Amino acid sequence: MSHLIWTGLLMLLCGMRSRLQLLCEGVRPGFYQNLPALAGSGEDAAAHPGTLNYLLENMNPEPLRQLIAGLTRRLLRMRCLERFRVDGEWLVAVDATELRKYSKRHCDHCLTRLLSNGRTQYFHAVLSARLILSNGMTLPLISVPIQNPGGEYDKQDCELKAFLRLADEQQNRSFERWNRSALHLGNLSGS
Ligand SMILES: [Zn+2]
Repeated sequence: MSHLIWTGLLMLLCGMRSRLQLLCEGVRPGFYQNLPALAGSGEDAAAHPGTLNYLLENMNPEPLRQLIAGLTRRLLRMRCLERFRVDGEWLVAVDATELRKYSKRHCDHCLTRLLSNGRTQYFHAVLSARLILSNGMTLPLISVPIQNPGGEYDKQDCELKAFLRLADEQQNRSFERWNRSALHLGNLSGS
């Protein structure tokens, strides 16, 4: 598992744009020798990109969500980001991102919207909070899926509802407490 997760991290960190590029890099000694050293595993070859793809398509995404949030929290605890505060404060941006769109229902949790042509579009989205540093860099803090509960519901999930879940989760996990009253909800509610 560690080998595959590190493969994915290196793919992103090295700016590789396709699995084919990863496949080409994976046969270079610098890559397949450093990969197990970083992952703490003992393989003598890099995994095929298709294996990584299979894992990401089928695994529960929760551990990855925890991993990403944990990386930023560790940097905060090490206090190595202190000089990147904005006017002495941590600046957090919260925004939603659409992940996938479908012309047919994909699952019970799909969000829906009515298009101008009368057709229904199905999509998945995530609400993410990112730490904005004074040098312009952003780091992921936490994210929650925006999705319907499945079955019957009165009103589908939205960014505002997801924001309340995200704020609760952040309050429970992070040493940096948010002052929820100071957060601007206007854009999230569409007002
Ligand atoms: Zn779906």
